[in-house]
Amino acid sequence: KLADDIIDWPRSLFASSHGLLWAAGSHRDRAAIGVFDGEAWTRYEHPEFALYIELGVLEAEDGTLWFGAMGNRLGSSLDVGGALQYEVTPAGKVQLLTHHASRLIPYTVARFAQTRADALWLGASAIHQYELESEELRAVPDLPSVHTHDMVVDQERRLWVAKGLFGVYRQEDGHWRKFSDEDGLAGKLVVDLLVLRDGTLLAADEAGISRFDGEGWTGGVFGPDFGMSSRSGGLRESADGAIWFNFSNKDARSPLVTMNLDSEKSFLTTRYLADSLAPNTRVEQHLELVDSAGNLFVSWSGNDPWGNTQANKLQYSWRVDQEPWAPFSYASGKTFLNLSSGRHTLEVRARDRDFNVDPTPALSSFTVELPIWRRAWFIGMILMMVVSTAFFLWTLIYIHEKRLKDRARHLVEIDQIKTGFFTNISHELRTPLTLISRPLERLLESERDEGKREMLTMALRNSNRVWGLATQLLDFRKLEQGKMRIDVAEGDIAGCVREVMEGLRPAALSKQMDCSLESEEELHGWFDAEKLRKIAQNLINNAIKYTPSKGRVRVVMKKTTDEGGREALLLTVEDTGPGIEPVHQQRVFDRFYRVPEKSIVDGSGIGLNLTKELVELMGGTIWAESPIHPDNENPGSRFSVLLPIDRDEASERIARNEHEK
Ligand code: ADP
Repeated sequence: KLADDIIDWPRSLFASSHGLLWAAGSHRDRAAIGVFDGEAWTRYEHPEFALYIELGVLEAEDGTLWFGAMGNRLGSSLDVGGALQYEVTPAGKVQLLTHHASRLIPYTVARFAQTRADALWLGASAIHQYELESEELRAVPDLPSVHTHDMVVDQERRLWVAKGLFGVYRQEDGHWRKFSDEDGLAGKLVVDLLVLRDGTLLAADEAGISRFDGEGWTGGVFGPDFGMSSRSGGLRESADGAIWFNFSNKDARSPLVTMNLDSEKSFLTTRYLADSLAPNTRVEQHLELVDSAGNLFVSWSGNDPWGNTQANKLQYSWRVDQEPWAPFSYASGKTFLNLSSGRHTLEVRARDRDFNVDPTPALSSFTVELPIWRRAWFIGMILMMVVSTAFFLWTLIYIHEKRLKDRARHLVEIDQIKTGFFTNISHELRTPLTLISRPLERLLESERDEGKREMLTMALRNSNRVWGLATQLLDFRKLEQGKMRIDVAEGDIAGCVREVMEGLRPAALSKQMDCSLESEEELHGWFDAEKLRKIAQNLINNAIKYTPSKGRVRVVMKKTTDEGGREALLLTVEDTGPGIEPVHQQRVFDRFYRVPEKSIVDGSGIGLNLTKELVELMGGTIWAESPIHPDNENPGSRFSVLLPIDRDEASERIARNEHEK
């Protein structure tokens, strides 16, 4: 009763460790404190301080009590704000220890908190850290500058701050972690925080009560009736573990407002005793076999004994295959995506509003089938397809290659038969040819009649031609069988080629051709005269043969060096014939090859092939070029032979020859 010296407007009651009950608020519109020692109240008035004392009262670790100022009288400059620090002397005397009101200390101090002996936190619109020893005051950055509704320190000595419409902040190493309705809080405007003895936290706001389980907040645990909007409301936990919800009408906020309170409607306190019975959990719907990874929906439900927590207020947490538990939420089902194939176990456990967790989670096992491409039958099928395709392709390739090989072999066989046939014929021809040539020669020697001589000469020339052809074929045989020997000796190359040209003079004359040889008088070197003769014979003969009448054949010979730096002979035979198109230039050296249209002239297609073989046998090279005179009707061709003629090369050849013999 007022008569008992209690203050007339106590806003908060606080029981300190000294066994004293403290009432803080105002008396006759000025800040005042009342202390009850079990028998009587004593009043301590602070007219110089503020209008009244704020809600946040703290008993610090050193046993002193802290009270903060709220409001100053309009127009008065006498008021001093800040904080009052009371002590209780060992003798039990209550007295003001310090009035902390330096220039730096904020006028209003709504809340106090202490994280360590020396660190006190003062909360108003800004938060300050107050070092008790040094009386140093540091403003805390990074928090919104709105009214601090509450500050508490959790069991891990971390500071929690309820900040106006921004939600709740927790101090972490070097930064503030923010929680708002998106993080599970019932609402953003938290007016009171309470650390429960089990280490969890309660937060009260307009939308209801939220509870923090160490990881996340669960909002609305006690239903919407428990919403608190007034700053005069609050949460307490008593020694018996009961939670006290104190609601008050917001009209009761200030003694300045005319009070017309219906006490029953304006003040309401609920004592809540949590039960300790855990809820049960059940998996409602699931599949035994899931098609392939993904898209499995599992739903669950729970019930709390005696229905203490309504079914829709139960929260659930789940885990798959002993992985860490998912955070609790009100969701009563989950779609699992991308589960690996195989057998899985899902566990679900329910939690009631008192945070009793079902100790026997509901179990559900299911199998996610292998994706189609990993199933045995599918892999088998693909393998079979691959194998059969490979086999099919292999067979095709095999058949094709076999055909090619057969054809190549066939061609070689035909070639051999041809050569064999020609060789046999040649042998057969050469004996009778000798028997034709000899008598012809003898007849020619004794014949004086010009007309007859001419006929005899022609017969002899043609007989010699056939003889030459037969010899060429026999040479082939020799080359093929590796029986062609090289007979190198020192001599005059120019003389040798000149002889060949002499032999061909009659043929050239009959076509009125201009045949010239450009060479030094004598060209000495090491060479196989018989083979060089055959080479020159073939090239010059072709030139005369394929060049139309009155054309020109030019033979040039000179010494040079080949790629290996050896002394070599370069022999070129140029004509004014039809030329050889590039596509045929390489092929004319093939056996039996004749340029299709231009070879109106008779021939066998073996001359150039034999020439090439002979050139290469002697370590030389041969090539054809055409056109020589691109603008002429007959562009002409040039055949060139490069033959080594030095002594070392020759002796090497002779030695090899000897060895082979
Ligand atoms: P043959 O002269 O008996 O046909 P060769 O092997 O000597 O056989 O020549 C092969 C082919 O090369 C000839 O059929 C001809 O078409 C072409 N050929 C050779 N020499 C010449 C040349 N000087 N001018 C044009 N074509 C030539």
